[in-house]
Formats: sequence, C-alpha cells, structure tokens
Amino acid sequence: NHNLLEVKNLETSFSIDGKLYNAVDNVSFQVKPRQIVGIVGESGCGKSVLSLSIMKLLPKEAGKIRSGEIIFDGVHLETMEDKEINNIRGKEISMIFQEPMTSLNPVFTIGFQLMEVLLNHHNLTKRQARQKSVELLKSVGISRPEKLVDEYPHQLSGGMRQRVMIAIAIACQPRLLIADEPTTALDVTVQAQILDLMKDIQEENGMSVILITHDLGVVAEMCDEVIVMYAGKIVEKTDVDTLFYEPKHPYTKLLMEAIPKMDEEVELLSSISGIVPSLKNMPEAGCRFADRCPKAMPECKYITPVLASLEDGHEVSCLLYDQSKPKEGVNM
Ligand code: SF4
Ligand code: MG
Repeated sequence: NHNLLEVKNLETSFSIDGKLYNAVDNVSFQVKPRQIVGIVGESGCGKSVLSLSIMKLLPKEAGKIRSGEIIFDGVHLETMEDKEINNIRGKEISMIFQEPMTSLNPVFTIGFQLMEVLLNHHNLTKRQARQKSVELLKSVGISRPEKLVDEYPHQLSGGMRQRVMIAIAIACQPRLLIADEPTTALDVTVQAQILDLMKDIQEENGMSVILITHDLGVVAEMCDEVIVMYAGKIVEKTDVDTLFYEPKHPYTKLLMEAIPKMDEEVELLSSISGIVPSLKNMPEAGCRFADRCPKAMPECKYITPVLASLEDGHEVSCLLYDQSKPKEGVNM
C-alpha cells in the first residue's frame, strides 16, 4: 500500500521584516491512493500555506520551503524546477479554492477556460476539446452544458461556478485533488450538493483528495484520515472515526464543541477564546496552544510537546499524553 503523496518534515517560512518565521513547522503526513485526507484548523493555522507549498504556489517574494521533502508518486517536488512542476500541476495534481470567482478569468467564457486546460495537457483538436468540455460540464451536474460553454463566470451562481472549477480541476483526471475550503462560500444546500459531487467523482476516478476545511461537519462526511493543525504544526492525526469518538488533543476537543456554531470561521474564532498566535508572536518554546488551552499546566509554557504515537496510527502532540514515542525526524 504505497503512498501517492508523502510530505516529510516540511518547513515553510515567510520573511517578515527580514526575519524568517515558519508558517508550516515540521509537518509530515501521507496520502494513499483513493484516500481523502482532511486538514482542519482555524484560519491562520497554516493549512492553506501547507497546500500552496505542495503545489509550489507560494508567493515568490515571501514564502519559501525551508526544508523537508514533498514526494509525489516517488518524485521529489520540493527540488523541482518551475517548468517541470507545471507539467504536474493541473494534470497530476489539481487544486480548487474557496472562491471560484477569483480563480475563473472574468473575461473568458467557461468553454474557453476548460478548453485551455484540455489543450494544454492533451493532444486534441479544438473541436474535440469543446466536445470534451461539454461532457465534463455534464459530469459535474450542469444540465445545459452546450449553452454554458458560451457563458461568462459572472452569469453563473456561486454553486455553478464551483461546479465549473471542479470540472476544470478534473479535466485531466488528476491523481490528487487539493481542495481548499471548496464549499465555504456557498450556502448550506449547495454546499451539500458540491460535497456529494466531489465524493462521487472521487469514487469514480479513484483519485486522492486533500480537503482543507475549518468545518468538522465536512470532515465527518468526507474524510478517511484527519490532520488537525494549530499554529503551523500538526497537533493530532488519526482516522476519522477515532477523531470523532476519541479526540485527544484539547484543541481538537474544543473544535468538536464548536461544531454546531461552525457555519463561519468567524464564529469558530469567537467560540474558542483567544486567537491563533500570529507568526511574529509565536512562542519560542512550550506549547503554542498554551494561552488558550483549558488543560494547560505550568510546564506547557516551557516544554515543547512533540507529535507522538499513542496507539495504532493515532498521533497527538500534547504533554497530557505519553511523549515517549516521538515520530521520526522530530525536532524540538
Ligand atoms: Fe494544553 Fe499543555 Fe497539551 Fe498544550 S501541551 S495542548 S497547553 S495540555
Ligand atoms: Mg485558508
């Protein structure tokens, strides 16, 4: 059972006023074929930076992969040239974002944008690409695809735009889809439809998915494995059932309690007191959650917890639990 993606000890840093700060700090995880791995946490916890690192789409001036490895199907992405990674991006690994309006180009028709992706990666005539675009739109549940290909993004509802983004993302049958808050901007009914669609496509194509969300309801519905992130670090990692039935980390437990109020990220923030420390204010030592943790002990301020295995595949980074089995490559 090989890994499609393996991220090892990844550190992504941002330069602020000439100093480097780790937005992703020593993160390791694996994605197996056909697996849906959820990455959860509040905004500012590093989950989007993590996904941009994997795609190597970090803002050039500021963000930088400092160390670690990103291995996709045996190939190292972290050392790859831009030109090479362009062949993988969109074809082998695709990404969808929260607000499709910003990723769709407003001046081109839906058909043009789909065809562009298809023509970039396949040897097709324009006619074939148009035909394929219509088929793709149909496969994401768009009822009159022949008409829609000639429309512009602003003529579509938010839900329709997200369907189009999914069509673009799966156009080349990627083996890995990274979805960053794909349904957050949509109302609840449309959200459920889009999640169903993603699940159907995933089952049909057998692709793997990394689903980034602040919404544990979405995680429960979609994911096999879950990674909980806080302040750039993984604080808990396990399968979805264990996470819901036996959450261990105090942060995970608070996220659970916040579920009914979790329609918006803003509400989640207010339901757990305090905020994720900003990069500049990250404590040098101790647990990064200590200021907000209801279970904090005096030593949490100066002993840095490590991600350690509790039992089969359940990893937690908290001083309340056995710290004697740290994961390989941990740095304090
Ligand atoms: Fe809370 Fe301490 Fe565990 Fe951090 S290490 S989560 S502060 S109990
Ligand atoms: Mg984000």
